[in-house]
Amino acid sequence: MKILLVEDDALLGDGVRAGLKQAGFAVDWAQDGLAAKAALDSEDYALLVLDLGLPKLSGMDLLKWLRAKRATLPVLILTARDTVADRVAGLNAGADDYLVKPFDLDELIARLNALLRRSAGQVELTLQHGTLALTPATHQVSVAGNPVSLSAREFSIVHALLLHTGRVHTREQLEQTLYGWGEEVESNSIEVHIHHIRKKLGSDLIRTLRGVGYVIDKVN
Ligand code: CA
Repeated sequence: MKILLVEDDALLGDGVRAGLKQAGFAVDWAQDGLAAKAALDSEDYALLVLDLGLPKLSGMDLLKWLRAKRATLPVLILTARDTVADRVAGLNAGADDYLVKPFDLDELIARLNALLRRSAGQVELTLQHGTLALTPATHQVSVAGNPVSLSAREFSIVHALLLHTGRVHTREQLEQTLYGWGEEVESNSIEVHIHHIRKKLGSDLIRTLRGVGYVIDKVN
């Protein structure tokens, strides 16, 4: 799952990026409104974490521009201004949730996972697929009740495919969910991760469509 983090405070941005990466997200970090706009124009994100007070283009203006262009990207706004008016304005401009600074990193991650579930039409905390169960908030995976240990990237791949069963994901789309800016994409890494996932979760969970991509079929 790739997140665009927009925050001009270097210390806070660095801390949030590190925390989100540790939670298994790929993170691009933009430090002003115009850089964020350029990123949103060229990359595909699962979530946007948006500070409101930004140089060059305010978070509120960016949000209005985004909602005029693409309605579905879930947005969580960060605001230092703890006034009801700011929060209401942000939600009215199309934000899905908000946090007031200073906030707890665990709460941010929990809210982002909730937004991901909602945007995928999932209401359950645990994604079920046959005997497979995956809980994003705790990064737990089990098969028939037996815990299975996946790496952060393996987990992200299974999570992305499970959120949209029946939908084919290309290798490039899966790479986008795994790597942030400046991270080198290892060639064949998706194939290698899929290989490991199959060893751990069974060979028939993820189907390969040669030359197209990967899919987890819907359970009948
Ligand atoms: Ca700011």
